[in-house]
Amino acid sequence: MNNKIYQERRNALAKKIFAKSGGGIAIISTAPELARNRDSEFPYRHDSDFFYLTGFEEPGATLVMEIKGSGKNCELQSHLFCRPKDPEREIWDGIRLGPEVAPIELGIEYAHSNQELDRKLGELLTDQDAIYIRLAENAEADRRLRHWMKKVRAQARSGINPPSELHDIEALIHEMRLFKDVHEIDTMRRAAAISARAHIRAMQRCKPGIREYQLEAELLHEFRNSGAQSVAYNSIVAGGANSCVLHYRAGSTELRSGELCLIDAGCELDGYASDITRTFPVNGKFTGPQRALYNITLAAQEAAVAMTKPGNTFIEPHDAALKVLTQGLLDEKLLKLSKLGSLENAIETGAYRRFYMHRTSHWLGMDVHDVGSYREETASLLKEEKPWRILKAGMVITVEPGLYIRPADDVDEAFWNIGIRIEDDAVINESSCELISRGVPVKADEIEATMKNA
Ligand code: MG
Ligand code: MG
Repeated sequence: MNNKIYQERRNALAKKIFAKSGGGIAIISTAPELARNRDSEFPYRHDSDFFYLTGFEEPGATLVMEIKGSGKNCELQSHLFCRPKDPEREIWDGIRLGPEVAPIELGIEYAHSNQELDRKLGELLTDQDAIYIRLAENAEADRRLRHWMKKVRAQARSGINPPSELHDIEALIHEMRLFKDVHEIDTMRRAAAISARAHIRAMQRCKPGIREYQLEAELLHEFRNSGAQSVAYNSIVAGGANSCVLHYRAGSTELRSGELCLIDAGCELDGYASDITRTFPVNGKFTGPQRALYNITLAAQEAAVAMTKPGNTFIEPHDAALKVLTQGLLDEKLLKLSKLGSLENAIETGAYRRFYMHRTSHWLGMDVHDVGSYREETASLLKEEKPWRILKAGMVITVEPGLYIRPADDVDEAFWNIGIRIEDDAVINESSCELISRGVPVKADEIEATMKNA
């Protein structure tokens, strides 16, 4: 394990806290284990912020950072509280790292048993002004904070001062996580490559009569067979009318000839998500109306990708996609120019929303809808809406326009139940962006050829 990355991240966070408060204590716990039903738990997934700072994947752990210093000198000592070694439990649940070897393994200054957390925090919070913690995380975290504060306050008569400032730690970490380093981009690249292969596998095994869950099984096969630990989110495999349900999950619908299948699926590899959508004809051949709307969606994606570059704002790719989609809807007479007057009016009035109701992008990283503010922090604009975030190298976003045509009296029947989304993952570099998920074909002809060559 490369400990250095995590040490550097902790140091960078410590510097931010030092700059804001001149020191303090930062506390961040990993995710709890969750019961699924009797004696059975959901597969464990660490907390992303905690993992970002430690690289430690076990449950029951808390990171406490002690930040001190004077002048410009910031000093950091990190404490990891983790599950103690327990031969009896380890027979059942597997090996625990344990506090004895954690400092060497993880490159952290101190490690303690998690049973020491309450006692030790009573000490660490002594004479500290500022606490950096997740605010209003949950009732248990609030209860623990009260407990620690009570312990320190009880010593007031011996001249010990309890902390007087409470700060949100998430905003600081999330701003860091928004910019991916080389190690992160490499992992995301590998995750996207696995997901692309999974999409090809599902496309090639699709045929009329197969059910959605069977294609989901093909995706999962490729994810796990390639070493991905999990899905990054529940896979969407949607046939026919289901493709117009945005958060549909793979169900038991039979896929029929003449219909489309929309798959939105991505694996999680080493803590990082991928997020790809492809839409393809169940029988391997797009119909005329399907192909027409597919090409509009692809042109919208191309327009958005061209705007996904440093210096542009987060919303510019969306605006570019929206223009192409709306023009396409007018061209195909799904929106009536005679009624709307112009493309600009169709956009301004939101007439397109009936067929395109989501945004084109979101941040992507450890979480599929990754953290980081979508707005610039502009202190002078307190009352007005803050401007959209300016894209910079190291950010990763998805580009995912779509069109969803539900049956309606004023809609040509040829377009009914056509739901299309095309989604790729874009790493913003110094001059433009790189699509890391293009291991799976995207052009209509290429998709047909891929399915034919199954
Ligand atoms: Mg998606
Ligand atoms: Mg997405």
